[in-house]
Amino acid sequence: MLYRRATSLDPRISIATVYRTVRLLEEASILERHDFGDGRARYEELPEEHHDHLIDVDSGAVIEFQNSDIEELQRKIAETLGYRLVDHRLELYGVRLDKPEPGKGT
Ligand SMILES: [Zn+2]
Repeated sequence: MLYRRATSLDPRISIATVYRTVRLLEEASILERHDFGDGRARYEELPEEHHDHLIDVDSGAVIEFQNSDIEELQRKIAETLGYRLVDHRLELYGVRLDKPEPGKGT
């Protein structure tokens, strides 16, 4: 099925390429292989571990971070408002501390 979908996008793709690519994705833990005993392998995307982002506004670099205090606080805020938190997105924007502030001179 995957091969059919791939060749509908690019007919030059070989079945060997599809097998090789799926195996690479499996080795990189991007895909998980399921075998339900019917001789056919099924693949599922592995969920990425949750993280939030800090964006460097000068360079555009995106830094991933995890903070359990923030996660817990967000859950509590939602709960206080009468909700069970199911998802959130948190983006922090910053400039590097070692960058001089404008107008303060160096
Ligand atoms: Zn988060």
